[in-house]
Amino acid sequence: MKQAELKPTGFAPPHGDMSAEDFRRYGHEIIDWISNYLESVEKLPVLAQVAPGELQAKLPDTAPEQGESMETILADVDRLVVPALTHWNHPAFFAYFSISASAPGIFGELLAAAFNVNGMLWRTSPASTEMEEVALGWLREMMNLPTKFEGIIYDTASVSTMHAIAAAREALNLNIREEGMSGRADLPLLRVYCSEQAHSSVEKAVIALGLGQRGLRKIPIDTEFRMNPDALAQAIDEDRQSGALPFCVVATVGTTSTTSIDPVPAIADLCERYKLWLHVDAAYAGSAAIVPEMRDVLDGCARADSLVTNPHKWLFTPIDLSVLYSPRMDVLRRAFSLVPEYLRTGEGDTVRNGMDYGIQLGRRFRSLKLWMVMRYFGHEGLAARIREHCRLARLFADWVEEARDWEALAPAPFSTICFRACPSIEGEADEARAVRLDTLNEKIMHAVNTSGEAFISHTRLNNVLALRLAIGNIRTTEVHIRRTWQLLNEVAKN
Ligand code: PLP
Repeated sequence: MKQAELKPTGFAPPHGDMSAEDFRRYGHEIIDWISNYLESVEKLPVLAQVAPGELQAKLPDTAPEQGESMETILADVDRLVVPALTHWNHPAFFAYFSISASAPGIFGELLAAAFNVNGMLWRTSPASTEMEEVALGWLREMMNLPTKFEGIIYDTASVSTMHAIAAAREALNLNIREEGMSGRADLPLLRVYCSEQAHSSVEKAVIALGLGQRGLRKIPIDTEFRMNPDALAQAIDEDRQSGALPFCVVATVGTTSTTSIDPVPAIADLCERYKLWLHVDAAYAGSAAIVPEMRDVLDGCARADSLVTNPHKWLFTPIDLSVLYSPRMDVLRRAFSLVPEYLRTGEGDTVRNGMDYGIQLGRRFRSLKLWMVMRYFGHEGLAARIREHCRLARLFADWVEEARDWEALAPAPFSTICFRACPSIEGEADEARAVRLDTLNEKIMHAVNTSGEAFISHTRLNNVLALRLAIGNIRTTEVHIRRTWQLLNEVAKN
């Protein structure tokens, strides 16, 4: 008897892939399962309630010698994997920046996985390359960016920003591509600038690019957590006088801690004056520019040399999908294009080959999910959802402002609120109060998060611990915001 006949359906056949019949059957089951999961995700604890190592301890150390049935595998997903998930799809996920796997986005991922194309070259999948150009053209228009901004998709904003700074360095024409930087007496200290509130990815980028942490200067901020352009000008002048070479400024629209907006027009003026590359990190807040009345959040960004926005943050596209826009794609290409014989094709410059625009060769068909999200919801539908998140954030901010024992710790221009509980004790010294409130808010956060009902995160602002509630999940409604406010008040009292 053949091996396949020995095994009931659900096991791998002796050769080749799963049978089409089994694929169809499990495919239906999995879609049903996902449907139920999304429908009932809010009944699950949003933050995984497992101890470190708990899942690992339940899984064997080695892969099975013989294939196992899909039933067994799927049962283990349910039994072991799901309890160890922190549910980013939960409508009360308010930590970090909350994200969404919207249904059309999930379908886009599924189809991309099924096609499994590698879009490294135009010919290795014209659909992937051309869909990327179309989808990024649509998004550019929705964000009201100039048509001279061409886009390229990477996995994350960290990677987009690293590529932008690499392009900025290439634009210096210092032969760094050919000669490198080490052992060169002819190179001055190359300097990048960002605010004290910029994301750590900027610092990681300078580390990765061999510019070193010394190559990054963090510019002080104003009382609303925005880069101070006068301080930037002063830093550039000082560096020039001391022989360093300023070459790039990273401005942020929507900083990670408070979502503050750096004054991009003033920063763009300085970049023009000193001939510096201006990169804008709009990873989170760039999506807000698709809302017509919020377009001004990108004021000045049309003058940037590059801008990153992450549809996987606030545009309902499953992680990962980050877009780098630049009117100077030729410089990025100059920094990275390297074509070995085995990748040379006859199309020449008539097409775009994704591999020319970065460190990676292989490219997933990421644009498909973004295209499906934009088509399904439409510009108006996407804008309406972002607008609603901002309304919910204002509502929450109002509750904080009106409550006697709570205070806002930063303006909330988008859908993220920084706040804390601040009950007073008469006659308490400032230092003791500071320590007490940090401890209290840490406890509040812990209590909310271990309740499983909601998940919030924190940051430090002006040296105090701030709670952070970031609204961004497509399934979040006013009910979830109200319940979380109630929960915060309950745990603050205990
Ligand atoms: N830039 C900003 C402003 C962010 O808030 C974040 C992450 O939250 C990043 C960059 C990094 O994003 P990614 O995880 O896509 O690298």
